[in-house]
Amino acid sequence: MPVSDPATFRILALANQKGGVGKTTTAVNLAAALAARQRVVLIDLDPQGNASTGLGIARAARGAGSYAMLVEGRPLAEVLRPTAIPNLSIIPADPNLAGGELELVDLAQRETRLRDALEKGAAALKGVEWILLDCPPSLGLLTLNALVAAESVMVPLQAEFYALEGVSQIIQTLDRVRAGFNPKLRLDGIVLTMFDRRNNLAEAVAQDVRGFFKSQVYDTVIPRNVRVSEAPSHGLPVTFYDPRSPGAEAYTRLAAEFLRRHRARLRELAKNDLER
Ligand code: ADP
Ligand code: MG
Repeated sequence: MPVSDPATFRILALANQKGGVGKTTTAVNLAAALAARQRVVLIDLDPQGNASTGLGIARAARGAGSYAMLVEGRPLAEVLRPTAIPNLSIIPADPNLAGGELELVDLAQRETRLRDALEKGAAALKGVEWILLDCPPSLGLLTLNALVAAESVMVPLQAEFYALEGVSQIIQTLDRVRAGFNPKLRLDGIVLTMFDRRNNLAEAVAQDVRGFFKSQVYDTVIPRNVRVSEAPSHGLPVTFYDPRSPGAEAYTRLAAEFLRRHRARLRELAKNDLER
């Protein structure tokens, strides 16, 4: 069964080669917000392991995770574990993942190891609706594995100078991945993160991004909010740490918009099928 079989789970990668733009924060909080309704798995592909820490799995407690699965070929069922959040499981980044980028280079099927692991491990993912992939801040083999396995990509973007240049780089990467490995890979959308409305430059950049990418930019904007940055040190998504904070409310809205867009696309696809 293909991993993108509509009857099973869907895979969304959070990617942007730039660091510090809110990939991990969005992966953790979108995953937690989605888990309020559906079963979700988060896979931490960043050697820094911030998504794992942010969901309460301390570095020392990590053991086997995405490195064991991708590099050593450990079955998915053995590296998947529950989090404190109901309906949300994680494959953490094991401490060895830092070497994974280089070790992958010498392995067979180095670009498709995640896709293969998910296909082989599908039985352990029964009932899971969404798999979110938190990518490292680079376009190396770990991110490539994510883009080859994914059905769609969400690009978190901080509204700052050069933001458009950064996003055009990831768009080009998506084109290359489509040409080489994954023709159906789709840009899910761009999410403006850490947004500060009092900052004129941020407003101007946001307008530029919307002018260029139109409806591919999410209506929901994630504000800069100190509760969002505090939550990981408590091992919790902000939606649990402080559900009434502006950051938590924004991520809850983002999850609703994400699902709304997803359903609209399914309806569109069904309509096109009927018309064919
Ligand atoms: P990336 O995964 O792209 O490197 P992170 O999600 O780790 O980026 O975010 C970078 C830093 O910014 C982290 O310290 C995080 O806590 C902080 N941060 C992210 N989003 C927000 C936000 N909306 N408000 C305040 N701080 C944020
Ligand atoms: Mg990160």
